[in-house]
Amino acid sequence: MDTSTNPRDLPRDPRACPPWCVLGDASDADVPAHLSAMVPVPLVVRAVDLVDGLPHSVPSALSCWVGLLETDGETYLTCATEEGPAIDLTPESARRLIEALRLYLRVLDDV
Ligand SMILES: [Zn+2]
Repeated sequence: MDTSTNPRDLPRDPRACPPWCVLGDASDADVPAHLSAMVPVPLVVRAVDLVDGLPHSVPSALSCWVGLLETDGETYLTCATEEGPAIDLTPESARRLIEALRLYLRVLDDV
């Protein structure tokens, strides 16, 4: 028996929940999807108000919920808000986004 294969690399029935899924039997059997518990991330984002007819930036609070989503056999990091559709990032995209954010946060730290 080959014991060098990581169990995570073995094919998995898409209807079977990954260990992080909290939906369990609530998953739709016709469209297998799995969702993790969501972590709330309080954000302050830029909103635009019109002041005397001119656009003016104002800070605005926004609740973001971050977690894992698996659908169509792919896993995404999902960022959902009450403001619009969720942004579902592939793990590779999330890593690139984090690196870009770190780059510019270091720029701000050096100013
Ligand atoms: Zn599931």
